Amino acid sequence: MCKLCEQGIPQDHSSSRRDFLKTAAATGVAAAGANLFAAGSADADIPDETGKPGRRYIIRGGSVMSMDPDVGDFPQADVLIEGKKIAAVGPNLPVSGATVIDARGRIVMPGFIDTHHHQFETVLRSFLADGLLLPGTPGGDINYFQYILQTFAPKYRPEDVYINELFGSLSQLDDGVTTVHDISQIHHSPEHSDAAIQGIMDSGRRAAFGYFESAGAVSGNQYPVDARRIKPQWFSSTDQLVTMIMGGEIYLPGYEQAWLIGRDLGLQVAAHILSPFGMRPTFDALAQNQGGDSGTLGIGADNLFVHMTGMSDLAWERVAAVGAQVSLAVPIEMNMRHGMPPILKMQSLHMEPSLSVDVEVTLTADFFTQMRSTMNLQRALVNQMILDTGLATGNWWPPQPDGVPDPLTTRDVLRYATVNGAKALRLDGKTGSLTPGKEADIIILDATAINVAPLNQVPGAVVSLMDRTNVETVIVAGKIRKWKGRLRDFDLVSMRRKLEASRDFVFEAAGIPQDLFRNN
Ligand SMILES: [Zn+2]
Repeated sequence: MCKLCEQGIPQDHSSSRRDFLKTAAATGVAAAGANLFAAGSADADIPDETGKPGRRYIIRGGSVMSMDPDVGDFPQADVLIEGKKIAAVGPNLPVSGATVIDARGRIVMPGFIDTHHHQFETVLRSFLADGLLLPGTPGGDINYFQYILQTFAPKYRPEDVYINELFGSLSQLDDGVTTVHDISQIHHSPEHSDAAIQGIMDSGRRAAFGYFESAGAVSGNQYPVDARRIKPQWFSSTDQLVTMIMGGEIYLPGYEQAWLIGRDLGLQVAAHILSPFGMRPTFDALAQNQGGDSGTLGIGADNLFVHMTGMSDLAWERVAAVGAQVSLAVPIEMNMRHGMPPILKMQSLHMEPSLSVDVEVTLTADFFTQMRSTMNLQRALVNQMILDTGLATGNWWPPQPDGVPDPLTTRDVLRYATVNGAKALRLDGKTGSLTPGKEADIIILDATAINVAPLNQVPGAVVSLMDRTNVETVIVAGKIRKWKGRLRDFDLVSMRRKLEASRDFVFEAAGIPQDLFRNN
């Protein structure tokens, strides 16, 4: 409760919070009106007013990979955008009077969708590059749980939350990740929650705000009950870029309350599920509708589970039967000892994951890395299973036996990275594919670049060859956010300085020295 409330003086919290956040936002957007993109620069030819009602423009002549089987793929085609939506996709669209974006030599596809990212940790990037989830690293004891969650996180002020969320969101827009489920665990007070939401909203990116617990048990934390204020205050419309998901970690006491509040508010309920935190018996109980304090809580189609490493067959079968969503953070799971990413288990149950980047404290949030890692891990496992069958018989190149899944393809992981992500966040009516009627979340990738040309196969070029430098143009809900390789609307130098100041504060407050060459 704020000091004035304690004294019995009524306060309009919504407006006072918003004023603070508006100030923070205004300083962060300094370059928007500064004519940064003067005539003669690479941005001089950018179509203006994109995304506004009635504004039409057409992306002409690119290799279009729609990720919608009913729309298909085209070696060369056009995408017409009107307002915030895709109006048409096809070759040689007979359109006149629309601004033209020349996409010859480019790949045009839906933006990537990240179903689990902790953007509040952006100031801690690479701090834990050698660490594990829990204590146990030989030669050092720097680990995620004690340092990131219990030492750094409790020190965050609302302004730290804001700049972390905003900078992390912009970085991902630059990478072509047009949608995120941001799992913010930084709700030390309602002001912290509001700062997280405002940072996400100010980025102009599509997002689901994940309202999870507050890391580090700071007093003033009003999770989970503050969800009842946050939902109507920030997420009253179904027609907005940012939506809400309720977090309910099953290893924390009283998680049933969070699940029930989320369900009462009509929200998806998400949770990290992994064996290192002792969750397996708890998850088994949930799978048998015997979870929570009541002993009657169960899982359902409204659940989104992250990782799912080390869970029982019983639980997996129930997850598949109810149609719950599963998000895999493959590189992080492999690196930080979450357990083997359960991609083969999912294939055996005819399930497909979405992909997620998790934490930049340990690994890049780049989505090309996500796709490549997922495909390569699955292929390493499957290839060895097949080779092993021949070792006993001396057949050094044995056939693929029944029951061994097919090796993943570039097309598979592209589906995981786009349409599956949209389904996982209940956004598949709006995004995830280039389907007329959906909102225009589109990336244009440069296939003429030195690391890609010549273009011989579109899914292969994207998954096997490309990186962030090939993301030339990024469009969210019809609005151009990155143009010819440069993010628009924000002064990134000023933003970086704010991020560095936040970093300095958080390290100082946490009592952790900054050491650029620390050995873990
Ligand atoms: Zn996570």
